[in-house]
Amino acid sequence: MSVLAVQQLKVFCTRCRQLVDDDHECPIKHRVLLDATLAGVAGRLSDLGLKPAMATFHFANTTATTFNLSMSIVLDTQPNFAILGDLPAGWEYGWDGDRVVSLEYNDCRTCSNSVEAEARLNEVIEQFEAFLDDKDVEGTKALLLLAGP
Ligand SMILES: [Zn+2]
Repeated sequence: MSVLAVQQLKVFCTRCRQLVDDDHECPIKHRVLLDATLAGVAGRLSDLGLKPAMATFHFANTTATTFNLSMSIVLDTQPNFAILGDLPAGWEYGWDGDRVVSLEYNDCRTCSNSVEAEARLNEVIEQFEAFLDDKDVEGTKALLLLAGP
């Protein structure tokens, strides 16, 4: 199915690190609603102690034939500081008062067909996964604990 079409959101378990069915036995707090392509990002964020609630992408029509990628990762864990430091190009923290409530991506590039769009989506996700892989898991968890809710 084309990435330009409507997404099929799945349920991902952050404890089991896999897509699961409705009758999955883990507590509901471990579940993330996401597009399957974002499962790697959701797993890495969970490893860092930042549990996502939902992770989606969207290609907006900028003209009749061009599309811009945007992504939104809504967080369950809402730190009161920029926990991941400077984010890669295109990514921003979504703030609600003094809390980080989401990670938002807006692409400056445009895609003109579904093949290009899929390649761009995969590229941006891979770059963000690599960024998260570079983060110090224990250090980030310790910062979250110190900050406290
Ligand atoms: Zn599970």
